Amino acid sequence: MADCIFCKIVAKEIPNHTVFEDKSVLAFLDIHPLAKGHTVIVPKWHAETLFDLSVQQLTDFFAGVRNAMQRARSVLRPDGFNVGLNHGNAGGQAVPHLHMHIIPRWVGDGGGSMHSIVCSSSDEPVAAVAQLFH
Ligand code: 5GP
Ligand code: ZN
Repeated sequence: MADCIFCKIVAKEIPNHTVFEDKSVLAFLDIHPLAKGHTVIVPKWHAETLFDLSVQQLTDFFAGVRNAMQRARSVLRPDGFNVGLNHGNAGGQAVPHLHMHIIPRWVGDGGGSMHSIVCSSSDEPVAAVAQLFH
């Protein structure tokens, strides 16, 4: 897409520091890293969210995520990772081209877990919410 910053990075119109690349994905270092080696990985075709990908595209994207993590693991030797999507406006997605954050973690680095993203706990009982899915 013409005015998409990540499409421009994929097209090499904007430079990047590549961590991993194959026919389907490009993984590159985040320009504002939250940790050493913070990487974003994008599909090479423009898609805003997971809902816009075919099953084959999802397969290729997630294979790319694991390949990028393996590359980061061998280079940086982290103790773990946080891996996740800011998905949609309310989820904090600033760039409307699907991207997975891969954040290397080290024991004692002071960071939190997925549980620290949102603290607005629901006052509806879990059983009541479960009914909505029936
Ligand atoms: P979001 O909030 O949409 O999940 O995250 C977008 C991420 O892309 C941010 O962490 C931001 O630092 C990163 N980012 C935005 N523009 C660029 C860029 O031009 N180059 C690189 N390497 N990262 C970018
Ligand atoms: Zn795009």
